[in-house]
Amino acid sequence: MAQLIDGKAVAARVRAEVQADVERFKAARGLVPGLAVVRVGEDPASKIYVTGKKKAAEEVGFRSWEHHLREDISQEALLVRVRQLNEDPSVHGILVQLPLPKHIDAERIISAVSPEKDVDGFHPVNAGLLSLGQPGLRPCTPLGAMRLLEEAGCAPAGKRAVVVGRSNIVGKPMALMLLQADATVTVCHRKSDLPREVAQADILVVAVGVPELIQGEWLKPGAVVIDVGMNRKPDGKLVGDVAFQAASQRASAITPVPGGVGPMTIAMLMRNTLIAASGGV
Ligand code: NAD
Repeated sequence: MAQLIDGKAVAARVRAEVQADVERFKAARGLVPGLAVVRVGEDPASKIYVTGKKKAAEEVGFRSWEHHLREDISQEALLVRVRQLNEDPSVHGILVQLPLPKHIDAERIISAVSPEKDVDGFHPVNAGLLSLGQPGLRPCTPLGAMRLLEEAGCAPAGKRAVVVGRSNIVGKPMALMLLQADATVTVCHRKSDLPREVAQADILVVAVGVPELIQGEWLKPGAVVIDVGMNRKPDGKLVGDVAFQAASQRASAITPVPGGVGPMTIAMLMRNTLIAASGGV
């Protein structure tokens, strides 16, 4: 049976570390880190995520604001709001909750956030810095996954890592972080031969959004598995992109869903906000 990688416990530890650092930061700088979250419209999942982020921000000692804007806000009006937050010295981190309504060009909004306040790490400048291997704000979910590997005692150097999914917010930055940690990295997508590629993986990270796509029997025995997927089944159960039961028979360590990567994303957002308030990485 695989070791369970307890993301909830690690995330609580990261948040406690940030809280202690915030205390020191306030004492040294006389400044309270501030996180502004922008939410557009009434997407129910976004509402839950934003509430969780705001609560975590308050618990670690930040100031936090939620800017809840109407679904029919124009792109120009949203850009104006983002620019106001860029100019506001009490705001150190800005997060625009995705997805945005269809009439808004999300890439333009993300690019409008000041790279120094881009605590999601999605701005093209931060994406470019990651790709160059230079310091910058990194996307929270892959950052959390890297921390979970560390906590599981899995050093990527020299290992074969397979990332399934190539989104800009998870798959691609995950692959780059593993590469920077000296893994030999393969990135898979819809056209890949998944059973063949997965069988090579010492480290497998899956971020696809298809319930239980990865079958346990495909895994290399002893693999370390990070399941980023979060899928709601018709019976209401939350499952990952990996068939957990069968996978935990072959893996040496695996994240559960829920309680794996999910809590880490928010914890890393707190860490990124403190970094932004401190003047960058
Ligand atoms: P996305 O839809 O932007 O990207 C999915 C990727 O998977 C794409 O690159 C696509 O090519 C690939 N893909 C789709 N179907 C495939 C298939 N059958 N075989 C191989 N590749 C396939 O999704 P995303 O934003 O990267 O999110 C992926 C999953 O991770 C979702 O379930 C999402 O809910 C979850 N997620 C979780 C967190 C967290 O904090 N735990 C954060 C972000 C995303």
